[in-house]
Amino acid sequence: MNLEHIKAVQRLLSEPQKIVIVPHKNPDGDAIGSTLALWHYLRNRGQEATIVSPNDYPKFLKWMAGSDQILNFERENNQAKARIEKATVVFTLDLNHLGRVGQLETLLTELTVPFIMIDHHEAPGEYAEIMYSDPAMSSTCEMVYNFMEFLGDLDQITPDIANCIYTGIMTDTGSFKFSSTTSRTHRVVADLIDKGATTTKIHHRVFDTNTPGRLHLLGCALKNMVILKQYRTAYITLSQDDLDAHDFQKGDTEGFVNYGLTLEGIIFAVIFIENRDEGSIRISFRSIGDFSVNEFARNHFNGGGHNNAAGGRSELPLKATALYFETLLPEYQDQLVTES
Ligand code: 5GP
Ligand code: MN
Repeated sequence: MNLEHIKAVQRLLSEPQKIVIVPHKNPDGDAIGSTLALWHYLRNRGQEATIVSPNDYPKFLKWMAGSDQILNFERENNQAKARIEKATVVFTLDLNHLGRVGQLETLLTELTVPFIMIDHHEAPGEYAEIMYSDPAMSSTCEMVYNFMEFLGDLDQITPDIANCIYTGIMTDTGSFKFSSTTSRTHRVVADLIDKGATTTKIHHRVFDTNTPGRLHLLGCALKNMVILKQYRTAYITLSQDDLDAHDFQKGDTEGFVNYGLTLEGIIFAVIFIENRDEGSIRISFRSIGDFSVNEFARNHFNGGGHNNAAGGRSELPLKATALYFETLLPEYQDQLVTES
C-alpha cells in the first residue's frame, strides 16, 4: 500500500460512509477475523459498517465479538442486498478476485463505488481502486493490523480487535508454524497480547470443539487415505455418504488435509470432498517446500490460493476426480521427488 493509497483511504474515512465489508465464500478464521477486526475499527471511528458474508461459516468462529452482526447473504438476502446497494465504500478481505464471493459477485460488479482490497493471495485481480495485496503476508489479519498502523491507529486496537486479528493469524499460519510466519508476525502477535488478546482461550475455542461425529469422520478420512510414495503424495476422499454417516456439520473437515503432510517423506497432500447439493467436488491442496499447489490448483482444478495452500473444484464424480488427479502426477514427478 503506497502513500497515495493511504491518503485516499484517509480522505474516504474522514467523511461518513456506508461501508460494506465482504469476506470470501466459505469464510475461514482469517476471513472472519479480518472482517470483524476491520468492522470494529471502522465502527469505533464512527462509520456505518456492515459485514456481508456470501454464506455461513463454522460454529467454532461464532464466539468472536460482533459475529452475531454478520449478515449471511444466503439467509438474510434482502437485508444484505439493501446494504450493498446503499454502500458508498466496499472492502473485500482475504480474496483476490470477485469470483470468490459466490452469489454476491453480480451485485458487487454492478456497484460503481470505491473498492478497497486487503488480501494475501497470489495473482490479485484488478477490480479494486485501492489495492493492498501482499502474498508474502501470513494472513489478511496481519494486513489489517498493518492497515491500522498505516493510518496511525494502532492505539485503537481494543481487546476485541486484538482477539479477532490473533484468531486469523493463528488459523492461517497453522498456529504459527507455516513458513509465512515471520519475526514480524510474532511481533504483531506480541503487541496483540499486550493489547488484550486472550490467546489460550482462543486456541481452546477454535481447536477444542470436536464432536463425536467429527472425530469419527476424521477416522473415516484417515482410513480412506491413499499414499503414493513414488510421488511423495497422500490424498483423502470423503463421499457425501461418508459425511452423512457422521452427522457432518460445516467446518468439520477443517484441517483434515494436513494429516497427509505429517507422514514422513510426504510433501503433497490433498483432500477431495463430495458435495451432492452443488454437484461438485471441493478440493484442498497443501504442500511443504517449493512445490506450488497454487499453480497446480490453477492449472487443473479451477482454483488457486498460495504456494503451500490452495483450493479448487472438480465437476467429475468423486472417484473419477481422484483418478484424474493420479494421472496428473507423473508430469510433476521431477518436482515432487527433488523437493528436499
Ligand atoms: P482451503 O483449502 O482451506 O479452502 O483454501 C486454502 C487457501 O486457498 C485459502 O487461502 C483459500 O482462500 C484459497 N482458495 C481456496 N479455494 C480457492 C479457489 O477456488 N480460488 C482461489 N483463488 N483461492 C482459493
Ligand atoms: Mn487468509
